[in-house]
Amino acid sequence: MPDLKQLWEIQLLDGQRRALEQKLREGQISGELRTLKTDIEQGRIIFNKLKEEYNLLKKLKKMKEMDVATANEQKKSLGEKLYGGLITNPKEVNSSNKKLESLDEKVKKTEDEILSIMEQQDTLRARLEEMSAELSKKAEDYRRKHGTLLASQEKVRQLLAQIPLSRQKMLERVDNGLWQKYTELQKKVNDPLAKVEKATCMGCRVNIPFHDMRLLKQGDGLVFCSRCGRMLYWDKQG
Ligand SMILES: [Zn+2]
Repeated sequence: MPDLKQLWEIQLLDGQRRALEQKLREGQISGELRTLKTDIEQGRIIFNKLKEEYNLLKKLKKMKEMDVATANEQKKSLGEKLYGGLITNPKEVNSSNKKLESLDEKVKKTEDEILSIMEQQDTLRARLEEMSAELSKKAEDYRRKHGTLLASQEKVRQLLAQIPLSRQKMLERVDNGLWQKYTELQKKVNDPLAKVEKATCMGCRVNIPFHDMRLLKQGDGLVFCSRCGRMLYWDKQG
């Protein structure tokens, strides 16, 4: 009576090994992690652009402040000349007054510009802080998920590493002739051993004729599926 149970266990184990190997390949980098990574990278690009913009505003503000300082210096020196009596020529007094007025204008205008720049800076700074917090949260999320992935991959690897020895032990209990037939069949079909459930070949879903079912139940020889050619395995308990 052929011991198909052991062979069945080996086939299941081989199926498990394939599934684990597949999991290992797919898990290299999962879709979710890849999306998260792209998201972080794009976020960083935008963040850096905004930061650059912020720095430009900072420079611009500095320039404007220098303009104000220069205009104020000019105002001061002109005022001293004017009110210190150094300028007496009426024409020159007139033009100096005009110059003072235009300097006043310039200071006022530039100060307004500086205020506007500062407002833009405030908005940008708030956005940058918000983005920075968001990005660190995402990066933390990525690190955590990546860590979990690595751990689960390691587990899969450990499971895979245990398979060859158990398989070897099972194989030792399988009759040589039976194993040879099995490997022969393996060249033609995947999983050459098919379980029989409710008089059906689970390999191709064809109905097993009464006669074959009786042979299977007697259990004194190999029975093959008439359609897919698989070796049939009928489990009394199953
Ligand atoms: Zn079949």
